[in-house]
Amino acid sequence: MALLSGKKALIFGVANERSIAWGIAQALHREGCELGFTFLGEALEKRVRPLAESVGSKLILPCDVAADAQIDAVYSEVAKAWGKFDVLVHAIAFAKKEDLAGDYVSTSRDGFHLAMDVSAYSLVAITRPAVPLLNPGASIFALTYYGSEKVSPHYNVMGVAKAALEASVRYLASDLGPKGIRVNAISAGPIKTLAASGISGFKDKLKMAAANNPLRRTILQEEVGNAGLYLASHLSSAVTGEVHYVDAGANIMAESVPEEKKEGEA
Ligand code: NAP
Repeated sequence: MALLSGKKALIFGVANERSIAWGIAQALHREGCELGFTFLGEALEKRVRPLAESVGSKLILPCDVAADAQIDAVYSEVAKAWGKFDVLVHAIAFAKKEDLAGDYVSTSRDGFHLAMDVSAYSLVAITRPAVPLLNPGASIFALTYYGSEKVSPHYNVMGVAKAALEASVRYLASDLGPKGIRVNAISAGPIKTLAASGISGFKDKLKMAAANNPLRRTILQEEVGNAGLYLASHLSSAVTGEVHYVDAGANIMAESVPEEKKEGEA
């Protein structure tokens, strides 16, 4: 039997076919999970709807996670269509372009609030109304990045937001554990997506990752998808409040790897 047969997952954060959330959606679909999607704005609906329909989804709903009324509207549709569900995926982040370039010290109050609201608080905002609709054994997970722990050039306010997101994962795991609901994060290595293209010097991050991590390569969207499948399924039934790294081992490296010696060199 498929790992997620009879289960239902609601996925926030598919923008297009390159989205990490789409890699997760495909892995969950492969293992028999029924999927629902949210999208931000009409322009994205044009991209998200065909993707969602390609995996048989009938639940495709608009949602700006900064607007409580839109979140409530999503869950009233979910309750009508599904009653209860099993998996909640948070793959959302946003910061002003100018706050993902230059120095962190230049971050405006407004930019800080926006990044924290959309990228960190939104996990609480979409979890609270989900709780009454989640089955025991349900799994919630969010996407994060190592820039939450160590300084990553130009990641700036997003690093601070991801640190808050990861702390939020631990507090939510503690709150919801007694209800049998697990909450985790996946810390993914750099992948070229729409959101990533907003980070100044992102190409250098990709090059650095491939040159310096133990596997000497960047990671694939489908590899994050498979980690999502693990966290969504009973295979991770005792795992909660954790950050799960899918970064080709980058987080274990204290320093950059010296350039490989050329043949014949001592
Ligand atoms: P992506 O495809 O651009 O997905 C980001 C999603 O967030 C988009 O669907 C975006 O919609 C949505 N979003 C932004 N503001 C929103 C709002 N107010 N309400 C609802 N949705 C909103 O990029 P991605 O790289 O797959 O990002 C997914 C997650 O993975 C993010 O949390 C990101 O930080 C994390 N992550 C990415 C990488 C990487 O290297 N790509 C690495 C580690 C972690 P719009 O496009 O309309 O703004």
